[in-house]
Amino acid sequence: MRSVLFSAAMSISIFAQAGLAQGEPALDRAQLLEDLRMLAADEMQGREAGSPGGALARAYIIERLEEIGVPPIGESYEHSFTFTTREDPEKTVTGFNIVGRIEGVSDSDRAMVVTAHYDHEGMRGDEIWNGADDNASGVAGVLAIAADFIANPPEHDVILALLDAEEKGLQGARTFVAEPPVPQETIAFNLNLDMIAMSEEGILWAVGTYHYPFLVPLVEEVAARAGVSMPMGFDEPSEDPSADWTYATDSGAFHRAGIPFIYLGVDYHPHYHQPSDTYENMTLDFFQDASAAVVDFAREADERLDAIGEAAGR
Ligand SMILES: [Zn+2]
Repeated sequence: MRSVLFSAAMSISIFAQAGLAQGEPALDRAQLLEDLRMLAADEMQGREAGSPGGALARAYIIERLEEIGVPPIGESYEHSFTFTTREDPEKTVTGFNIVGRIEGVSDSDRAMVVTAHYDHEGMRGDEIWNGADDNASGVAGVLAIAADFIANPPEHDVILALLDAEEKGLQGARTFVAEPPVPQETIAFNLNLDMIAMSEEGILWAVGTYHYPFLVPLVEEVAARAGVSMPMGFDEPSEDPSADWTYATDSGAFHRAGIPFIYLGVDYHPHYHQPSDTYENMTLDFFQDASAAVVDFAREADERLDAIGEAAGR
């Protein structure tokens, strides 16, 4: 822990010395680590949908959106929905997506939706499944994207959707796509973050170009300047369910509706869906570099959004 804090402090001073010009993406690395640490803290009890820990996580995320300056879509950030699970079909659970919007400066009607699920597995007995990588990391990444777009406004409307109940079968994402807060045909692209904090090899996969080959140049451009390696794959139909991640995370719901997507995330690792998926076990240097890459990715996607929409007929 001590060495983590030390390296975060080092990053800040190096960043300050770099003297980035205005308009360049700025990543607050200390805040990024704080968001990851807070969302993965034991107090959040693994953030299971419908649980008190889930409600605590939601309160934290809403407070951060307010702090960053992202207004909600509609009356409230919280968009509730209900669902049942296979384990207990008698019990109705209420989930809450958290949705905000940063307005674009152009007059284009097209919007980009940036998603990450904030729920995880909760607790098994006394054991907390903290879900640091899965998916406190993706939420922290979305908050970093939000801060960057507030500092340097996007061309198009950017909708930030922190989704609930992904672990219960993409429930929040399905609801978002079925009842979107803007006309569905105006959603030209979904950028989904799920697990961006744990890779010993330094690899952040870009999933989705098999389905939307016109997105290859976008991925290539960001990959060329990223501090992590960003190969494309894990999206071709396969007999082996672990080799095709198309429907393994929230972007699957967008894909079903014909909305182009890129899902950025790491490969399976020993902490995946284990109680050891904790802040302390993350590869934090990788996480910071991956987060810088996702901020860059969101900015590049915004710049290309009209071309993406045209290619997809949206
Ligand atoms: Zn996940």
